[in-house]
Amino acid sequence: MEPAGTRRLELMVTGMDCPECAGHVRQALEALPGVHEVSVLLSAEKALLTVDPARVDLPALCQAVERAGYQARPPLLQQKTATSLAEQSQRRLTRTLFTLYGLLFGAVLLLIIVGEWLGLLDRLTDRLPWPIGAGLTLLAGAPIFWDVLQAARRGRIISHTLMSLGVLAALFIGQWPTAAVVVFFMHVGKYSERLTSERSRQALKRLAALAPQQARVIREEEEQVIPVEEVAPGEIVVVRPGEAIPVDGEVVAGQATVNQAAITGEALPLEAAPGSRVFAATLVQGGSLRIRATRAGSNTTFARIVALVEEAEAQRAPVQRLADRFSAWFLPVVLAVALLALLLRRDPLAAAAVLVVACSCSLALATPVAMLASIAAAASHGLLIKGGAHLERLAQADVLLIDKTGTLTSGTLQICDVLPLAGMTRQQLLHLAASAERYSEHPLAEAVRQAARDEGVALSDPETFEVLPGRGVRASIEGRLVSVGNASLLPEGQQPAEARNLAAAGKSLLFVSCEGALIGILAASDRLRPEVVEALAQLRALGFQSIELLTGDHEEAAASLAGPLGISYRARLLPEDKIAIVKAYQAQGHCVIMVGDGINDAPALAQADVGVALGVVGTDVALEAAHVALLREDWRLLPALVQIARRTMRVVRLNLVFTLLYNLLGLSLAAWGLLPPIVAAAAQSLPDLGILANSTRLLRQRIKSSPRG
Ligand code: ADP
Ligand code: MG
Repeated sequence: MEPAGTRRLELMVTGMDCPECAGHVRQALEALPGVHEVSVLLSAEKALLTVDPARVDLPALCQAVERAGYQARPPLLQQKTATSLAEQSQRRLTRTLFTLYGLLFGAVLLLIIVGEWLGLLDRLTDRLPWPIGAGLTLLAGAPIFWDVLQAARRGRIISHTLMSLGVLAALFIGQWPTAAVVVFFMHVGKYSERLTSERSRQALKRLAALAPQQARVIREEEEQVIPVEEVAPGEIVVVRPGEAIPVDGEVVAGQATVNQAAITGEALPLEAAPGSRVFAATLVQGGSLRIRATRAGSNTTFARIVALVEEAEAQRAPVQRLADRFSAWFLPVVLAVALLALLLRRDPLAAAAVLVVACSCSLALATPVAMLASIAAAASHGLLIKGGAHLERLAQADVLLIDKTGTLTSGTLQICDVLPLAGMTRQQLLHLAASAERYSEHPLAEAVRQAARDEGVALSDPETFEVLPGRGVRASIEGRLVSVGNASLLPEGQQPAEARNLAAAGKSLLFVSCEGALIGILAASDRLRPEVVEALAQLRALGFQSIELLTGDHEEAAASLAGPLGISYRARLLPEDKIAIVKAYQAQGHCVIMVGDGINDAPALAQADVGVALGVVGTDVALEAAHVALLREDWRLLPALVQIARRTMRVVRLNLVFTLLYNLLGLSLAAWGLLPPIVAAAAQSLPDLGILANSTRLLRQRIKSSPRG
């Protein structure tokens, strides 16, 4: 899959507090030769890279990150990097000590200054000679100034650059107490940024913590506890009551109720018995199981889900790009305003206040913090949103297109009629049809295989197998060419009379042919998912005007479902027709949500503005294909999804408008000399806290989906 000369790598990066820091890490890594792509995940504390392993290695990458002022290590490496870890924590400790001192010094000074203002203390600060005061101040801000210098050496200005200039300006005009207070608030600001990032980090960690780290396997007839990464496929894992399952696998012995909440977000119990498929992070209750592992460690469905939530941060939403572009302008503009205050108004204090009051970091925080909070909250309810961009489009969407089989109708179909023709027996027909369907992932194929299983018909392995998208399958079975699929596979006008009655009843028909001759018909009953009616009503109330069913099935089947729901439909569509319909809506300026099972409609899901896959647990293709995955097969998650998106965008807009107005007001007051630098310094740390408070509301949002009635 990966082209030669490229490899995907992951680095754990710590010490990043705000998107600006993530930007530094990205730039530091991108600057290395042999690094193709970098995305830095602030909340997951990771960098994902595509590199040319011949030109760059792990130590070089780690060094680059450390040179930029952060700590890096490869994931899951314990002993080997112990020394460098100790070194890193040493550096961390130094920084923390400096910061503590800066905070303490600033706080004491602040008290003294307030005391002087109130007339309680008499000119205390004046008595300390300037060089000592200035020295103490510079020491207090040392870690921040260090970062600024490091950035400056690479020709970059960061948000603290301006404030540091402000500090220098204040020192220069002899106002060292002011400078010290600014330093104090720089530390406070940095701390509140860390707090903000930490909040979304915790949400991710809570999610990841659901998966156990260790597994009890049977090796040489004895139970051994080993780290999950070391479980090999095929090994037998023992899980006791109350424990979380450590791997994906198949139950080989035992009986238990499995609580799937970790994946689906709802305590839907699954009765597990030999043969059942179970997933990592789900809980075994009332019973114990022996499971043959199929996947472990970072390969499990759950690990993939967690990784996708983490990577969601790298998918920048359009509003965020707008904010970023604005931030890039922001620093030079502030610098210019400060210069103007200095040159035109000859007011160095005002210039210092301008430099100090501006806070570009909060502008950068406004979008991602809110989006990540929503993505994390949604993930814990079985809703996997793969990025802020999707949230933004979901909030705008006004057209809903729906796939039929397995999406609008329940995922498990049943073959209700078996009609052998041309002298076939029922057994022969099922044998040929199910063998041809052996490797198809379509819900209809599973129904055919189930019908064969139910009647005890053995399958044979097809010599060739071909999927005909939107039509059926073709395979050679025991030397004969067998096709199973809809009427489009039959020669024109060959549809037998028997088919017409079944079709009129709204059933999906599968025509089975052997060597070009029709040998039988299978009819599948398609049952509407019960919660669809309620979900569609909610979606209409949310303003979705066009709701349309798109299906590859025949008209009668489509009409019998769409009619009662009051939605329009188009039948006999090939996958490319579905794509064309999505495109046509988009050309009219609509924003389209397409819902499908993600297996046979992946191209249409990808074409839609937001592709939503339903019930994807255990099917990797579907999980990867969609923009949003509903891990629980519940249509009511769909209106909930739209509501989450709209709520998130409201918070994002509020965050942005708030920071912009706040900065504008602060800058104008400061430029006019109405804002003493001390007050300006205090003021600049407020927006971060505002954004934090506003956005973390989203972490606690209730995601509505009433219990199944
Ligand atoms: P939809 O999900 O909207 O029904 P699909 O594109 O999944 O549309 O399938 C369209 C039609 O093609 C189905 O209704 C069925 O008749 C036929 N078909 C697709 N795949 C298969 C298969 N594996 N076996 C039999 N028929 C199939
Ligand atoms: Mg389908």
